[in-house]
Amino acid sequence: MSIMKLVLYPAEVLEKRCERVKIFDRKLAVFLDDMYDTMIEFDGVGLAAPQVGHTQQIAIVDIGDEHGRIELINPKVIEQRGEQVGPEGCLSFPGLFGEVERADYVKVHAQNRKGRPFVMEARGFLARAMQHEIDHLHGILFTSKVLRYIEEDELETEG
Ligand SMILES: [Zn+2]
Repeated sequence: MSIMKLVLYPAEVLEKRCERVKIFDRKLAVFLDDMYDTMIEFDGVGLAAPQVGHTQQIAIVDIGDEHGRIELINPKVIEQRGEQVGPEGCLSFPGLFGEVERADYVKVHAQNRKGRPFVMEARGFLARAMQHEIDHLHGILFTSKVLRYIEEDELETEG
């Protein structure tokens, strides 16, 4: 188990477009495991490679539901529907929360750690988390989409 250092805003690496992953080797598998350990350590529900200083199209999501740990390599939203507005935070912006509008449903095409392509559908909070992480891979930060910032105590009353 290896915890990586989180990149906090502001940092150039957080606003760069990431490169596609072409090599699916043991190094990638170790990196994914380290990303997961880091996300859990910092209590996140998602983490994108730029947040640990790597400009590659790699993200992980685990919102603690039945889907468990989702590894997204070279992900792309291929379909989206509806809208939802809800609170969002980011491990690169400790203590900052804001309401962000996202699609309520997404269909995402990605590759797993072995390079095998898959398509996944998600709704609600899982769809939100996936859109947030995929944005990171394009250098897009949630702060550019915040409709209204939220105080931390206001967030807690929402559960
Ligand atoms: Zn984030």
